Amino acid sequence: MSRKRILTGDRPTGKLHLGHYVGSLKNRVRLQDEYECFFIIADLHTLTTRPSAEDISAITENARQMVLDYLACGIDPSKSVIYLQSAVHEVYELNLIFEMLVTVPRLQRIPSLKDMAKSANLAEMPFGLLGYPVLQAADILLPKAHLVPVGKDNESHVELCREIARRFNNLYGEVFPIPDVLLGEVPTLVGTDGAAKMSKSLNNAILLSDDPKTVEKKVMGMYTDPNRIRADIPGKVEGNPVFIYHEIFNANKEEVEDLKERYRTGKVGDVEVKEKLSRALNTFLDPIREKRAEFESRRGFVDEVIYDGTMVMREEAKKTLGEAKKAMGLSGIWNKISRKVEEVRKKTHG
Ligand code: ATP
Ligand code: MG
Repeated sequence: MSRKRILTGDRPTGKLHLGHYVGSLKNRVRLQDEYECFFIIADLHTLTTRPSAEDISAITENARQMVLDYLACGIDPSKSVIYLQSAVHEVYELNLIFEMLVTVPRLQRIPSLKDMAKSANLAEMPFGLLGYPVLQAADILLPKAHLVPVGKDNESHVELCREIARRFNNLYGEVFPIPDVLLGEVPTLVGTDGAAKMSKSLNNAILLSDDPKTVEKKVMGMYTDPNRIRADIPGKVEGNPVFIYHEIFNANKEEVEDLKERYRTGKVGDVEVKEKLSRALNTFLDPIREKRAEFESRRGFVDEVIYDGTMVMREEAKKTLGEAKKAMGLSGIWNKISRKVEEVRKKTHG
């Protein structure tokens, strides 16, 4: 039996950060052998909040940087498909078909879309942004994925995708699997500023490609317990982003326990806690940076990875879209008409 499939990916809006790693990338790397993986460079999705020509002109380089991040974290292009969404035209078609299977009020209830509109400074909801999860459903179902490893903010999108797949199958016959969501071990990583979510667009991210000095600087500027104005005041560990990062990224568990204990009792300064965190983060990031540099030095390699992956995905997309349109009876309309024309022309001319 062939392996089950994964689809997930990211918008090429910049380099990837620690939130992407714990939310989704780590699961992708872990499941690469168990599943047949498709990783999407979701450039059409960037148009929902960044449609200007200037934004579009940044996509190529952003996509390359993002793929470098993938490779640096251990995604292996000889096992997994990495492809460019906008170059797989079937997704535009499947998106339109899926748009008929969902209502506007259903989409309006999805909370992440309002957040996205707000952080993009959009006073009113663009039609395309409202349709973001519909396009995402087309992404997921085009390779017939069974599993979608994403961060918490994407959970409701996968739920919608399940509804669309069920609805399609009910109306036209079993074409699509009903995919499951897989949240990361940290479903939402807080930002360095203490904001609910580390995000490329919020300027509160530590990038997987940041150099050691930058990491140190970002950590030193991190938000901690605001009530702790002196080192001898007992501090709060719970919900404190510095300690959240320690818990996740510091492999020295004894050190973390010791720091927590001393922080709670007012026996350690913020500087020591932060210095130890930057050291831990840099230890975590060192091998990633090293691999990144190695792939970066291989000229043309990243473009080739995207090209080859896109070619593979195009074949898959053609198959699935063909199947879907056939199940609907949609391809039959044109087939009947063109066959008739060919028949008549053959009779009259030849
Ligand atoms: P943008 O600001 O451009 O929206 P982003 O940082 O929110 O970028 P996305 O490209 O929207 O990143 O998200 C890609 C994937 O990474 C999604 O699965 C998302 O859930 C996950 N992800 C992003 N940020 C975090 C985070 N802070 N914690 C956990 N997962 C995250
Ligand atoms: Mg986002």
